Amino acid sequence: MQFKRFQMRYLTSFFILVNLFSLGCLSESDQKTNLYNDLVLGRNYFDSGHLVSETQTLPGYLEKITFQIEGGAPDVEIYYRTGNLAELDVNNHLNTSWSTAAQLQINALDIQGNAFIQFAVKENDFTHLKKLSWMFESAFSHFFKSSWVAREEWHARLPKKDISTWGQEWNSFAIHHTAGQAASSLKAVQNVQNYHMDANKWSDAGYHFLLGNDGKIYEGRSLLFQGADVKGHNAYTVGIVALGCFDEKECDGTKNPLVTKMTKPLLHAFGDLIGLLAHKKNLTEITVSNVKGHLQFSGAKTVCPGNIIMNYLDDIIAIAKETLKQLKLMAA
Ligand SMILES: [Zn+2]
Repeated sequence: MQFKRFQMRYLTSFFILVNLFSLGCLSESDQKTNLYNDLVLGRNYFDSGHLVSETQTLPGYLEKITFQIEGGAPDVEIYYRTGNLAELDVNNHLNTSWSTAAQLQINALDIQGNAFIQFAVKENDFTHLKKLSWMFESAFSHFFKSSWVAREEWHARLPKKDISTWGQEWNSFAIHHTAGQAASSLKAVQNVQNYHMDANKWSDAGYHFLLGNDGKIYEGRSLLFQGADVKGHNAYTVGIVALGCFDEKECDGTKNPLVTKMTKPLLHAFGDLIGLLAHKKNLTEITVSNVKGHLQFSGAKTVCPGNIIMNYLDDIIAIAKETLKQLKLMAA
């Protein structure tokens, strides 16, 4: 099958048209592609009569995917395909085939083990389509509601293909600080991902979760993949980082940023997240032996996550234990 990058084709034709006709009278097909470009944030392309969204990585503990269609014909057909990122070849081609979404809701439990999902609509159906969007519902979005910031929301880049799934079952949590200035923003999270992927040459952001001091929980590397945050211990640890600098010695406002203060929302974000993860993973206990600061792991030469967060480690563990207890009671 031949695939073409929609964006390049669109941009080229757009600039030619703008140059030739200053009034900008686009052909009907260009008006159409302009509309579709807006539909999925410009990250789409055509594949054999399908308008295909950019590949998305699946969040861990995915429960449901809901499509939302505005202005589509009643018989609009939505397609999806899933697989592992390694199946993507250099030109974004996939080896997997399309399935029709029989209803506009897919029970995603059966695709939990796969790494990516793509969505598409058939070209015949574009005439009335105004908006196609989708929403992942996961254990995290259900629990954290508006505090949860999914990868699509902070405009995460796709991971590289060499990203690896877990070498073993994870059972521990590693706590970090970014040692940066920003305490919570989409830009701060994008900066972490860019630094890890471009400077460090890693496959994605190293951490699984990034927390803001406003209580926001940003989805980092999908929980389907092993992290890159504690050298020698990545195979069994979930990496959780607080945005900001939490070490009173290092963060003195000279060569490092100023100290970020611990807040109640951040403390609860840490505790609730660890409690929820322990519940989903059926961990029976949360203790100082499976919730540790980065510096406590053998071989670590760092002050991360800083003395301020380390001072609150017992409080984080206490909140996590209580959250786990409540979740277990609710599930019983
Ligand atoms: Zn660290």
